[in-house]
Amino acid sequence: MSNLNKKRILTGDRPTGPLHIGHYVGSVKNRVLLQNEYELFYLIADVQALTDNYDNPEKVASNIFQVAQDNIACGLDPEKSTIFIQSMIPEIAELTVFFMNLVSHNEVLRNPTVKTEIKEKNFGDSTPFGFVGYPVSQAADILFIGTDVVPVGVDQAPMLELTNVVARRFNSTYKTDLLKEIKPLFGVEKNLIGTDGDAKMSKSKGNTINLMDTDEEVIAKVKKMYTDPTRIHATDPGKVEGNPVFIYHDFLNPNLAEVNDLKERYLKGTVGDVEVKDKLSKAIIKFLEPIRERRAQFPLDKVKEIVLEGTKRTQAEARLRLDKIKEAMKIKYF
Ligand code: ATP
Ligand code: MG
Repeated sequence: MSNLNKKRILTGDRPTGPLHIGHYVGSVKNRVLLQNEYELFYLIADVQALTDNYDNPEKVASNIFQVAQDNIACGLDPEKSTIFIQSMIPEIAELTVFFMNLVSHNEVLRNPTVKTEIKEKNFGDSTPFGFVGYPVSQAADILFIGTDVVPVGVDQAPMLELTNVVARRFNSTYKTDLLKEIKPLFGVEKNLIGTDGDAKMSKSKGNTINLMDTDEEVIAKVKKMYTDPTRIHATDPGKVEGNPVFIYHDFLNPNLAEVNDLKERYLKGTVGDVEVKDKLSKAIIKFLEPIRERRAQFPLDKVKEIVLEGTKRTQAEARLRLDKIKEAMKIKYF
């Protein structure tokens, strides 16, 4: 099928650090699966990353190609998909400014994800204006390219709702049907839990198992993992539900018989954390192996070329799209 007939996907990550297994199950896995069926645009969200890292641009800059490499290593295929850098598409910033008028001040402040993140980041009285408004900029990321589907983690659900509100308001205000409502696609019902038992594995919380971790790092992190806090001895019956070690087994260990056997024995108190963790480390190491091999085939120099080419392709498309949007708004003067 030619790209002309394909529906579009927009997806992306903030270049704030290496990707972890939470990213994999939440969004990367779906991206890779869907790139055959859809025309996929992958955004490296550096402008969004700056909203809470504006004073540390080096952190953002040093992760640009890294995050693209992580995705390619997981199977994002540069032959099929377009990888581009957000800050190199000025039309997104332009569209953000237009969209800011379509959303109320209160609506942005009420956004549950932004509220939680503001608390977690301890901004105090100095929450950047840009941070509060990032969902509007995210609506521009998604809508500028005519997206149909967005594969993301569930923490992004409120952003995607707002995106559809913006699309609807734009269309009704400017009497057009130019902007399409989008469909979110969640890889998991809940965010993947952190190694410390926190509700979300997150780069900024240091509770991650990264896709580029070495075998030794995986083993050390799994050893320290939080399990069932109420279980003291290996002979005590334990809890499987909500136990991070079993959640990871469910996602990453393809040996169902082994996982079921461990669960049964854990519930009865006939297996210790050591064996459960040892089998988990082995499963994660096996899962990471092909990712490591593919990463080796795409050194950063090669990734840079891919990103430059994808960004150029997106720039051309963005100019055409913004012209149409301005026409609909009746502000295309020449
Ligand atoms: P930061 O701490 O800088 O916000 P992050 O770890 O939250 O980083 P993002 O780049 O914000 O990562 O998220 C990229 C994508 O991965 C989003 O679609 C997000 O929903 C998804 N994602 C991130 N963490 C998880 C997780 N623990 N479980 C499932 N999906 C996740
Ligand atoms: Mg995040």
